[in-house]
Amino acid sequence: MTARILDGAAIARGVYARLGARVAELQDAGVRPGLAAVLVGNDPASKVYVRRKARACGEAGLHSEVHLLDAGCTQEALADRIAALNNNPRVHGIIVQLPLPRHLDAVSILQSIAPEKDVDGFGWRNLGALVDNHPLFVPGTPLGIMALLDHAGVAVEGATAVVVGRSTIVGKPTALLLIARGATVTVCHSRTRDLGQVTAQADILVVAAGKPGLIRDGMVRPGATVIDVGINRLADGKLAGDVDFARVKENAGWITPVPGGVGPMTVAMLIANTVTAAERSRR
Ligand code: NDP
Repeated sequence: MTARILDGAAIARGVYARLGARVAELQDAGVRPGLAAVLVGNDPASKVYVRRKARACGEAGLHSEVHLLDAGCTQEALADRIAALNNNPRVHGIIVQLPLPRHLDAVSILQSIAPEKDVDGFGWRNLGALVDNHPLFVPGTPLGIMALLDHAGVAVEGATAVVVGRSTIVGKPTALLLIARGATVTVCHSRTRDLGQVTAQADILVVAAGKPGLIRDGMVRPGATVIDVGINRLADGKLAGDVDFARVKENAGWITPVPGGVGPMTVAMLIANTVTAAERSRR
């Protein structure tokens, strides 16, 4: 059996099409949803991600601002910028592109974003509320993963799910969403013994490790749904996920490509969160 491809780019287009009506309704009421992205330094990958998000805003009819701060900027200067954005009524969502330069304390900066503008959902208020199933915003990548599963019609309730990776922005929130939907979830990480034996149990396998080729053919149960979150730049310049796509797709049920799988969904969910933030600002 060859897996069906979960085309994140196409599914994201559907998300934008549905958002169009909400954006139009806001504009009729004189509100243009606005997203501010704060980028510190010159990391090329971060620049690409910020540009992509700004472009998505434009295409979806949102206002967007990119705040570029130089690599040596102080914690105070960055905190001041966030405080100004918290008070700016044109801005409904604020994101800080990670990673920040090492001299800056990312944790405290993320906590300084007003929870109602924290459209990445990385602040403790939102992450903590996610544990109790009542966040204002859920991070875009986990939301996008759930949307991909729903699009494919994958039954989450009762499924055995394995998440590889325990980061705060992908692995852990994805595990929480899967638990909330009734999956039985195992979270693996770099200390997991015999990873393949665990991943081979999964009906739903989400891989977010940042290690190209980590998941090979024999590690996936035939017919499983495989969501590859990893984005890795190979020596030849090409992008690859964490899953050996060519082999694994021969036996999986569904699989996401890299690029064109989770990535476009992450951006679409960020835009959706920003529209939601703008809608809430009217109440
Ligand atoms: P982190 O580096 O924060 O976390 C990686 C996780 O993978 C850690 O929990 C780590 O374990 C685990 N891990 C590393 N090596 C192994 C291994 N050999 N076996 C099992 N587990 C392992 O990364 P992120 O969560 O931020 O991102 C993961 C990947 O997803 C990256 O490639 C990133 O670029 C990509 N990404 C893609 C997005 C998208 O939109 N498509 C969005 C965000 C990220 P431990 O905790 O023990 O160190």
